[in-house]
Amino acid sequence: MTERTILHCDLNSFYASVESIGKPELKKVPMAVCGSPENRHGIILAKNELAKGFGIKTAETVWQAKKKCPELVLVPPHHDRYSEISKAVNAVYLEYTDLVEPFGIDESWLDVGGSRELFGDGVTIANELRERMKREFDLTISVGVSFCKVFAKLGSDLKKPDATSVISRENFKEVAWRLPASDMLFVGKRTAETLLRFNIKTIGDLAAASPEMLEHALGKMGRQICEYARGDDRSPVRRYDEQEEIKSIGNSITFRRDLVGEADLRAGLLRLSDQVAGRLRKHGFKCGSVQVQIRSPEFKNITRQRRLERPTDIGKELYDAALELVRENWSDKAPVRLLGLTGMALEKTDSAAEQISLFSTPDDTLEREKRSKLEQTLDEIRAKFGGDSIGYGSVQASDIFGEERSEEIAPE
Ligand SMILES: [Mg+2]
Repeated sequence: MTERTILHCDLNSFYASVESIGKPELKKVPMAVCGSPENRHGIILAKNELAKGFGIKTAETVWQAKKKCPELVLVPPHHDRYSEISKAVNAVYLEYTDLVEPFGIDESWLDVGGSRELFGDGVTIANELRERMKREFDLTISVGVSFCKVFAKLGSDLKKPDATSVISRENFKEVAWRLPASDMLFVGKRTAETLLRFNIKTIGDLAAASPEMLEHALGKMGRQICEYARGDDRSPVRRYDEQEEIKSIGNSITFRRDLVGEADLRAGLLRLSDQVAGRLRKHGFKCGSVQVQIRSPEFKNITRQRRLERPTDIGKELYDAALELVRENWSDKAPVRLLGLTGMALEKTDSAAEQISLFSTPDDTLEREKRSKLEQTLDEIRAKFGGDSIGYGSVQASDIFGEERSEEIAPE
């Protein structure tokens, strides 16, 4: 088998950099992108290198940030522009290979193994891409070059901004193994905590651990991260035009103990609607109907669905619809083993008709917009700090959460 050549390209401080395009004066001052700059409770979404130097952190409030750096310049976000530029950047990557797999708005993997004849080796292509980003977009990228996706991603984090780092078969033990395990893709905060209980601190420790033991402690993913740490990652880079079309987005939870009573059911549904709404937004969908699945401890299953008044990607609206479905179809005295929530009848957010329902008033629309903004801010915080970094108190305090599954169903 010939060795693959995979690049992971990561746009540096993406939001802040886009806001500074063609504005050299913003590059010379500490600057941050912020949800509502006029409001001291507004949250920092991104910052440039100079702001980083003052210790400004993503997700802290304007008030906290200004305390550290009174002259901090704040600018509001322009999400449409971010996705427009992201598409244009991927179009440049596609000149080198059709194996381009975006990972979020500012990162992509490229498999350039088949492009070497035409464009040169991985490092040559990486350096050329860095030059083009500066020239054509006034942006910088960090590139990791490796033989697999996991180490390519790790590589792009090694040196920033505007740098190329190589993690090869020859050097990965030396370069990657001394790094904290949590630097590796798929090792989130929770996983890292579990690993620490086994005294696994570095990627090298992870590689040396027993895959059986890790599978026992963490499930399938435990074995997988052990293999990844050993350089055994054969996952392919997907073709750009083969990004799967998604038909429905659903999550289900088998609870740590059976749910009994309305408070339990509410906590379960709150978490599910929060997860499903977040995934809808991530993929740019709204759903026109909601389906609820309930499983009893005796494995009796029911599924019920309902059309929504208008398509939504707002967790609160999914939650209200799901709670109604459960109330109508399940006695709150009957125990529940598993709950599932699925958003169906998906429409792309930009085409989802904003139907104003008979009952909606200007106040109602405003309320909805506020709610939508709030949930988008949560997405941004989670994208930075991981899925469990922020959530609802009643969910975080509950003892019911166990195994969770998410599904994205592509058309047959
Ligand atoms: Mg980035």
